[in-house]
Formats: sequence, structure tokens, C-alpha cells
Amino acid sequence: MKYQYQIRVSPEEAANQHKLKQAVSRHGGIAKKDITYVNVLKRSIDARQKDIKINLKVDVYVKEAFTEEKIYLPDYQNIENKEEIIIIGAGPAGLFAALRCIELGFKPIIIERGKDVRTRRRDLKALNIEHIVNEDSNYCFGEGGAGTYSDGKLYTRSKKRGDVDRILKLLVGFGATSEIMVESHPHIGTNKLPAIIADIRELILNCGGEVLFDTRMTDILVLNNEVTGIKTLKGETINSKKIILATGHSARDIFELLHRKNVKIEAKAFALGVRVEHPQELIDQIQYKCDSRGEFLPPSPYSIVKQIGGRGMYSFCMCPGGIIAPCATAPGEVVTNGWSPSKRDQPTANSGIVVELRLSDFKNAEGNPLAAMEFQKQIEQKAWLEGGSTQKVPAQRLVDFIRGKVSANLPVTSYKPGVTSTDLGEVFPDFIHKTLQGGFKEFNKSMRGFLTNEAVVHAPESRTSSPVRIPRDPYTFEHVQIKGLYPCGEGAGYAGGIISAAIDGERCAEKCVESLQQS
Ligand SMILES: Cc1cc2nc3c(=O)[nH]c(=O)nc-3n(C[C@H](O)[C@H](O)[C@H](O)COP(=O)(O)OP(=O)(O)OC[C@H]3O[C@@H](n4cnc5c(N)ncnc54)[C@H](O)[C@@H]3O)c2cc1C
Repeated sequence: MKYQYQIRVSPEEAANQHKLKQAVSRHGGIAKKDITYVNVLKRSIDARQKDIKINLKVDVYVKEAFTEEKIYLPDYQNIENKEEIIIIGAGPAGLFAALRCIELGFKPIIIERGKDVRTRRRDLKALNIEHIVNEDSNYCFGEGGAGTYSDGKLYTRSKKRGDVDRILKLLVGFGATSEIMVESHPHIGTNKLPAIIADIRELILNCGGEVLFDTRMTDILVLNNEVTGIKTLKGETINSKKIILATGHSARDIFELLHRKNVKIEAKAFALGVRVEHPQELIDQIQYKCDSRGEFLPPSPYSIVKQIGGRGMYSFCMCPGGIIAPCATAPGEVVTNGWSPSKRDQPTANSGIVVELRLSDFKNAEGNPLAAMEFQKQIEQKAWLEGGSTQKVPAQRLVDFIRGKVSANLPVTSYKPGVTSTDLGEVFPDFIHKTLQGGFKEFNKSMRGFLTNEAVVHAPESRTSSPVRIPRDPYTFEHVQIKGLYPCGEGAGYAGGIISAAIDGERCAEKCVESLQQS
């Protein structure tokens, strides 16, 4: 027999099958000897009180053997000779669009400006050590997109966007741990993601799809408001009546191209701020209300949202046990973001702390669709100058930041290219700087001890979401003006994060196929 329970247990009980059986026996009044296995379906940590509890949804097998349910990939067919759909970008949106095309019997051809996931590592090394930014291969561009060398957090605030479990199952099918189906805040980790991405590519190729690396799209060919193909930097023309445009939020050249060609795009509000780094131990002490978190709890995350002078200020993409990464996509700018290995075992925790921006913050946002992007770019370029015109970022100790005082010295942080002690008031417009200063004090009210000079603020965290929207029809998903063009994923303004980008990729593929089947 199998019973399902929701139970609250200690971290130690949650981590040990023997103790878990004891807890279930107590909870359900079942003799422990009759319990063959307790299978955890969902797990979340409740750290609101000092006595931390783990909430579990479990299947309890009583006098019945447990067999693990295998997750299988869909039956992907050979589509080598089928009708082609061009997908620009091999990020989560582009890759999941390609997989869905194959499932539906169409041949995806992915055009990717960057390199395959393994070769891409060399460019990341050059960025971290030699401060060289390759405009086609960096933390945002290349196979797997911006999500590849990330924390791989797999939750989305918006469940409305689609079937999250379907994407998680596909990731498990491609080699991710099945734990991601269980955790309330699942993550994969930078060390595990590349192999999953490579397996997705291998499947696409084995089914007869194509993936063209080192191939930057430079033009979208349009005749009578209908797509006819694309041009690449290598000078090739690829004809196609269907193009899924999944180039991400950092492809400024794509936004500029669309604007030049009078293809309708709109300025979009986003959030911008800093990335703050604390010792992970300190975050654990604050969040778990303890001296040391012990062996049964993971490095703690945190999440804070505040209203400061009528503006939202919140933590973004928090990476427990993680590293701050240089995420510039062009020379002459600096950008920060964060990643963690699967074990989240680095000594520091980092998080974006960002201020909500509005269209009215950008000069002439009504008349200039690139206004938000230009605002973002200016801050990144200012930070580059203040940091010393390399990939070093301007930084300040947190308490000094609040007092507006240049730090006399800075500790070594996880940001490999290095930090330059600067008054960050020089980098940001006054309203962002003041909101951040006031907001950090408020954060300290929610997390006592957060405000410490052990913490270092790095600037800027500026690629939180796209500064441009590429508007599409809500039913057909085609661009509002150009037939056959499917703006997709985060760059188009329809996703934020790995999961929602993957979901949007699938939906764009479905809409594109629907239209081909009707024509
Ligand atoms: C360091 C870092 C950590 C992150 N951590 C997380 C996390 O833990 N969890 C999470 O959910 N999200 C995270 N994100 C955000 C997440 O990666 C993005 O939301 C997601 O990748 C967006 O997917 P996408 O497919 O829409 O675009 P992208 O992933 O940006 O992919 C776009 C692709 O298009 C390609 N491209 C661009 N222009 C062209 C062109 N002209 N021709 C051909 N190809 C082109 C790019 O090379 C890129 O591969 C992180 C991002 C970074 C940078």
C-alpha cells in the first residue's frame, strides 16, 4: 500500500531514510517495520523559527516495494528532411524551441554567434584573467546562452507562464539530478549545466537538426512585411519564412538592427543596482539563527523585497556559496552577475540588489525604443571607467557605501578580475544611489547583521531583464508587424530566467508550427 503525507521533520530526519521512517511511523501511526520506503516528492525549508523544520510531501510505501519512476525523454523522431525553422540563439529559449520543433516533426536550424559549450570556457578564462571581452563568446553569449555558466536556479516567480514541471522533467531526461523535481527552490550548478546543454545539442544533431556555431546573424531579410531569411556575418544568406528570434537580453546589435529597419520595438523598464557579497557563514547565521548551520542544512539563500520612497528594491538572482562573474558582452563596459557550483560550497554568498526603474527614468522613452538600453549601457561604461578601464569593477564596503565614503581597503572578493575602491555614487544617477543606500538600511531590519563592512558592494548589476520589448501578437506570437518573425525568450521581453525562457521557446515553436500547418 502507498500513503501520501505532508509532514514536518527536523533537518536530520529529512536527510536520513532510517530517521525519516521513524518520523513517518510516529506521524501516521504505522509500524516502522512495515514501512519499506519513504519517497520524498517535495521538500522545502521553514527557517522562520530557531527550531528549523523541513516540510515534506512524501509517499510512504507500506509492505510494498518502492520502484523509482524513470523519467524518459519524448520520442524524438528523425526530422532531417522535414520543413525547416530557423532559430536564432542557442540559449534556453532557442534550445527548447528546437526540441519542441523536433517533437512536432519540423527541422530546427539553430544559428548561434558563440562557441560550443566546451570551447566557450577558454573565452571565459580570458575574460577573468586577461580582461579580454570576446563579443561573441562570453558569460552571456555561446551555446546554452546566459544560463549555462550560472547558478542554474530553476524556479520562476510566474507559474502562469506554463508547465514548469515539463521543463524540469526534460532537464532530468538530459541528465540533471531528479532532485530538481523535489526541491522547492531547485538548482543545477555551473559545473553540471554544460554537460546537459551538450546532450541537448547532440540530440538535436542526431535527429537531423543543425546547430551552426560561430555564426552571428547580422540581418533579417524582410519583403512586404514578411520574413524571407537572414544574413550572417560570414556573408551567407539563409532563406526561411519562419524565424524564431531568441537572442537574449544582451544582444544590443539585434535591438539596433530592428530599430534601423523600422521594425517595431519598445523601450522596457528593468531593474538595476549592485551585486553584494557576504561571507556565506554570516548569511547562514542570520537566516538559520545559529552559530553554524551544521551538516543537514544547505548554504542559506535569502530573498528580500522592500519599497523605498515608492520604488521597489529587491534581491535578485541570489547565489549561496557562489562567485561573482564578469558578464560584459563588449569591451569598454563592466557588468556583474553570479553563479554557484552544484554544491554551493564557495565561502561567499552573493546577490544582485536592484532598484526598479520606470520608463520615465529614461530620456525620451516614448520616442526612443532604445532609451532604456542606452541608460543601461551608460552606467556599464561609467563603471568601466571608474573601475580602471579593465574588467575590474568599482566596489565599496557596504557600510562605507551607505555613508558615501570611499573604502580605505577592500578584501579579496570572489570576482576574479578584481575590484577597485570607488565611491559608487560616481557610477549611479543620484536616485538609484540614494534608493540603494536607504534600502540597505531597511534590509538590515529584515536580516539583522546584513549591514556589515565585511560585505562588499560591486557595481553594476544591470542585466536583470531586457531593456527592450519586441512586441508580438498574443495569439499567434508573430511580431505585430513582420509576418514569420517570432520574438522569443528574455530578449524579446517574454521571459525572465532559464525556466520561463525554455517555456517561451516551446510555445513559440508550437505557434510557428501551427502557422506552417495551416498554410
Ligand atoms: C551569470 C548568470 C547567471 C544567471 N543565473 C541564473 C539562474 O541561476 N537562474 C535563472 O533562471 N536565470 C539565470 N540567469 C539568467 C538566464 O541565464 C537567462 O534568463 C536566460 O538564459 C534567458 O534565456 P534566452 O534563451 O531567452 O536568452 P539567452 O540565454 O541570453 O540566449 C541568447 C542566445 O542568443 C545568442 N545570440 C545573440 N545574438 C545573436 C546573433 N546576432 N546571432 C546568433 N546568435 C545570437 C547568444 O549568443 C545566446 O547564446 C543568469 C544569467 C547570467 C549571465
